[in-house]
Amino acid sequence: MYTPPPNTVIIQRYMNSFQYSDTNKRYHTQDYYLRHRFGCKVMKIPLNAGFSCPNIDGRKGTGGCAFCSAGSARFAGDPEKPLREQFDDVRRVMERKWQGKFIPYFQANSNTYAPTEKIRAMTEEALSFPDTVGIALSTRPDCVSDECADFLQSLSRKTFLTVELGLQTVHDDINAALNRLHTYDDFKDCVRRLSRRGINVVAHIINGLPGENRDMMLETAAELSGLPLFGVKIHLLHVLKNTALAQSYGRGEFETLSLEEYADVTVSQLRLLPPSFVIGRITGDGARDELIAPLWSLKKFCVMNEIDKLMAKNGFCQGDLYNG
Ligand code: SF4
Repeated sequence: MYTPPPNTVIIQRYMNSFQYSDTNKRYHTQDYYLRHRFGCKVMKIPLNAGFSCPNIDGRKGTGGCAFCSAGSARFAGDPEKPLREQFDDVRRVMERKWQGKFIPYFQANSNTYAPTEKIRAMTEEALSFPDTVGIALSTRPDCVSDECADFLQSLSRKTFLTVELGLQTVHDDINAALNRLHTYDDFKDCVRRLSRRGINVVAHIINGLPGENRDMMLETAAELSGLPLFGVKIHLLHVLKNTALAQSYGRGEFETLSLEEYADVTVSQLRLLPPSFVIGRITGDGARDELIAPLWSLKKFCVMNEIDKLMAKNGFCQGDLYNG
């Protein structure tokens, strides 16, 4: 059972307000960070540059992670379309609602799994898009060579760069059962190599993985709190059609979290993370037509409200159990 460190104190000044918020949020949202850094609304635009993944193409494995669906990559954009067209399509939709600046976000699959020259070319192209203030890349921790890290260092000196590394959990046995084919040590090694170069690293974790209990999820957050990260993205496990996970779910081998369980564990994780960590998300955007469970996650704003309510009702804030 996970218990907070004995000398943990709940910091009284967090009880009524939170230093990184000017709304009702009691955690350090990406929206808050970007507004304060750039002085306006900043929106991330997902792009699909047609990358593969070593866990799909056979270099490390085939079939991918148990929860990964090919449809998720297409959700990020159509790789048949030029990057600029993908960018403009999403930008037009976003501008119906907001005005501001943009961060092209290379989201689909592993966006450092290519020769460095390809990564250089695509990021330089994206930086030329109108009103662009940064670049975001998501990838696997075992997919960043030193040469690539050196390039990312030079990119981060030119623009606001975040590199998102999929971890999902610090528990290697759980990741192994999901066919992730990298370890927590791989993740820590990559974080250190990138953060040493001054690159902002964001960890991606998933709550509700088969075989994990609440304490194990809190152990993941507690571990991350000690790493040199820029931020964390917290995701709910989605069971998507045409995945290995869907077959396992269909055989009744595990259950997904309830909304109440998810809100409880997510709030508890936020309390363990340093207040300075930027929280990129606290739930996921599943492809509606692919989602099998949990269906309550389709109401994304209800999930976010549940988390806000739980924090406000109890006077919790991000980091009030952080022992850094
Ligand atoms: S590492 Fe990412 S892209 Fe590759 S199989 Fe796993 S979830 Fe899918």
